[in-house]
Amino acid sequence: MQQPSSLLIALNDLPPKGKDIVCEEQSLWQKGLDEFAMDVRITHALKAVVTLTPLPEGCLIRGHLSGQVAMPCRRCAEEISFPIAWDFEDFENLDRNSAEQEEITLDEESLIFLDHDRPMLDLGALLWEELLLALPDNPLCKVDCLGICPVCGNNRNSNPCTCADKKTDPRMDIFRTLKIKK
Ligand SMILES: [Zn+2]
Ligand SMILES: [Zn+2]
Repeated sequence: MQQPSSLLIALNDLPPKGKDIVCEEQSLWQKGLDEFAMDVRITHALKAVVTLTPLPEGCLIRGHLSGQVAMPCRRCAEEISFPIAWDFEDFENLDRNSAEQEEITLDEESLIFLDHDRPMLDLGALLWEELLLALPDNPLCKVDCLGICPVCGNNRNSNPCTCADKKTDPRMDIFRTLKIKK
C-alpha cells in the first residue's frame, strides 16, 4: 500500500549525527485510511517521534508511533479502541546503481529515491507503513467474542439466542426457504 508522499526528507541536509523529527500531521495517516477505505478511526491523535541517522549506504530510521485508533471487532463488528505504542527501526537502502537508471524499477522496495541526484527519504510513506504494522491483525472486542449469530443476526455477546441449539440438517434448508404457494 503506497500513498502519495507528503513528507520528504533530503538526506544530504541531515546533520551527520542525525536529526530528530516529530510528526503530528494527521493527514499523513488519514489520507491512507481514506484512500484504502479502511475501517480504522483515529480516536487519539497519532504522533511519531523519529530519529534519522544518515549512513553512507542509506538512512537509519528509529522511531515510536503513539496514539489511539478504533476498529470494528472482526466477529461482532462492535467498535473497539486500541492504543498504539509502536517502536520501529528501519534501514532504508540508497541503491546507488539506480542513479544510472532512467526508471526506478517497480520492485524497488527502498523508500529512498533520487530527485535530481539528491537522495530523498519518503518519510510519509514509511510512517504510513508503520501504522499498518502497528494495527492489530485480528481485532477482537474480547478473546471469546461470540460474534453475530448467522441465523438471527443478534450480537451473541449481548443478546444470547438459542439458534445454535436448534440442530438442524443443513440439507433441509432448501425446504425452509421455499414459499408454499396457496
Ligand atoms: Zn466482538
Ligand atoms: Zn440466533
